[in-house]
Amino acid sequence: MVTAIRAGWLWDGTGSAAIRDGVVLIDGERIVAAGRAAAVSVPSDAETVDRGGEFLMPGLIDAHTHITIIPGQGNQVGQLMQPIERQTMRGVGNLRRMLRSGVTTARIMAEEHWLDVTFKDEIERCTVIGPRLNICTRAITQSFGHGRALSAFDGVDEVRKAARENLYHGAEFLKLFITGGVSSTRGGGIKAASYSREEIRAAVEEADRAGTYVAAHAIGGPGIRLGVEEGIRPIEHASMATDEDLALMKERGAWAVLTEAILFHPTGIEQGDRDNPFIMAKLHDARAAAPERLKAIVASGVRYSVGTDSMHGLLPFEVAKLLDWGASSTDALLAATKWAAECIRMEDKIGTLEPGKLADVISVDGNPLEEITALERVKLIVKDGKRYERLSEV
Ligand SMILES: [Zn+2]
Repeated sequence: MVTAIRAGWLWDGTGSAAIRDGVVLIDGERIVAAGRAAAVSVPSDAETVDRGGEFLMPGLIDAHTHITIIPGQGNQVGQLMQPIERQTMRGVGNLRRMLRSGVTTARIMAEEHWLDVTFKDEIERCTVIGPRLNICTRAITQSFGHGRALSAFDGVDEVRKAARENLYHGAEFLKLFITGGVSSTRGGGIKAASYSREEIRAAVEEADRAGTYVAAHAIGGPGIRLGVEEGIRPIEHASMATDEDLALMKERGAWAVLTEAILFHPTGIEQGDRDNPFIMAKLHDARAAAPERLKAIVASGVRYSVGTDSMHGLLPFEVAKLLDWGASSTDALLAATKWAAECIRMEDKIGTLEPGKLADVISVDGNPLEEITALERVKLIVKDGKRYERLSEV
């Protein structure tokens, strides 16, 4: 079954400018053509979907999020330790919110109870509505590390064992915590390096052996350099990276995955942990220091993408924030499409509207290249060629 989606604007995410009167031709789950309506030959028996003056673009990619956490409810690590049925129910709503906001692929940065494996499976069976998931199963963190929920791994052998177990259960990449973080009550400060060089190296070796990679939570401090030197490429958050860190990241081709909604949006940590003075002090410091560093990241030439870090539905906010740090609107859209696909190593399947790619397409009301908040007005969502319209709020 061939479908032709027409609209007033088409931005294919390849780096080309947006064009007027575009069409995306979809056969089953794949794109067969995308371009000017006058230049694409549409089969006579194709179903035509006319989106009027809307703006067609690739489905959004959330390069860093979680399924079951809601930061505004506070104590994020505690949420990961709640009964499995409670987490599952929260997850169903969160996944729906993600898809509704135009996110067609989400990279999930750790869950407990192998819930990301189950959700990925059920979404593929269409029993649960949500984006396509790219998963890492459990976080690998140490006993005194940020993000420690139900398990912790110390020493080279335990890190190796955790990596192999995660891969066995279906991890598509590995997630390591190599510095402290904002939303934890333990872990020795945001910049504390939490794994040794040898432990980091063990994880990278295991990922290499399995043909995949390690992504590391790293806010700042010595952990960033340690991780990048040992071969870690996506550095998650990176909001306190120094100029020296950025020079090394650029030289080694490391990515920065920026996650600012959780830090700056009023429904993020500010709401969830307002009664915890220790976390509030860390939040205050991070908010004061991050903007200058984020501007440095955008100006540095280090490649970047974006993630909501569980602020489900707020990827448009995340993209708009990039403009505050000096990104152009084109670069901001690329960070949530083509660049995000490259960052999560799925660029052969998603990220642009090109023949052969999976048919992940959204339409928005307005031109986000001229007015970035148009991205909040998602109208049509197509994932794997399947159309989702009027998804209700949950
Ligand atoms: Zn996270």
